[in-house]
Amino acid sequence: MIDQELDCRGLFDSHAHYFDKKFEAEGGADVFLRDEVFGKGVAAVVNVATNPENAKLCLTQAKKYPAMYVALGIHPEDAQHLTVSVDEALAELCALMDTREKRKEGKIVALGEIGLDYYWQPYDKELQAELFEKQLSLAEEWDLPVLIHDREAHGDSFETVLRHPNVRGVFHSFSGSAEMAKELVRRGWYVSFSGVLTFKNARKVREVAAVVPNDRILIETDAPYLSPEPFRGKINHSGRMAQTASALAEILGLSYAETVALTAENAKRLFDLT
Ligand SMILES: [Zn+2]
Repeated sequence: MIDQELDCRGLFDSHAHYFDKKFEAEGGADVFLRDEVFGKGVAAVVNVATNPENAKLCLTQAKKYPAMYVALGIHPEDAQHLTVSVDEALAELCALMDTREKRKEGKIVALGEIGLDYYWQPYDKELQAELFEKQLSLAEEWDLPVLIHDREAHGDSFETVLRHPNVRGVFHSFSGSAEMAKELVRRGWYVSFSGVLTFKNARKVREVAAVVPNDRILIETDAPYLSPEPFRGKINHSGRMAQTASALAEILGLSYAETVALTAENAKRLFDLT
């Protein structure tokens, strides 16, 4: 059903991790970025950090590619492995992005990935909550959109963002209910879908995508993870997002080209790249 050779031109990957060690075993992220991503016409990629250390790697990578943007933040899973206090970790993050000049220079378009993860055991709810709240406050101060990670923590994630009504952004690789998606959209949020849309057992995610208004949908890879069918289990990269766009086109009743254009426009609006 899904064509393996779709046109990658114009795709906007709103969430990928090109610093991830998984790329090293396959020749390095640069090989993919050069040959399979920008070489095939992918329009833009947001390279998303998960801690202050890989934040620096993200910034370095983005310098090499004009169409690579950056999001910096401390991920809830990384929060569990901090070797410094929360405030010290946040100070490291601030040092990279706390002025307009630094954000412009680094092409930093969002704060993320931040949020809550109650999937990986054991987890420290209080630590995750503290980091999440403090980073949402920083996003408000800096007027930056946020990239939210919400895994098995829908209720708490939703309540937390409601406490920050001036903050907007996107729930990435969304796994919540249609009801939650509608409530988020009503409050100005975007909802992003990954390769999961193409999985046979992901009927619920496809149903959610169908209720999100067209102007609030983003697509992403979450590379190197979540490869779409027919590449499931293999390393993911932004060139493979075409399959996700194709699955979304079917759900929305639009053409492939319309879906690529629509999701790219939405990303540009959210990240203020228009
Ligand atoms: Zn991610």
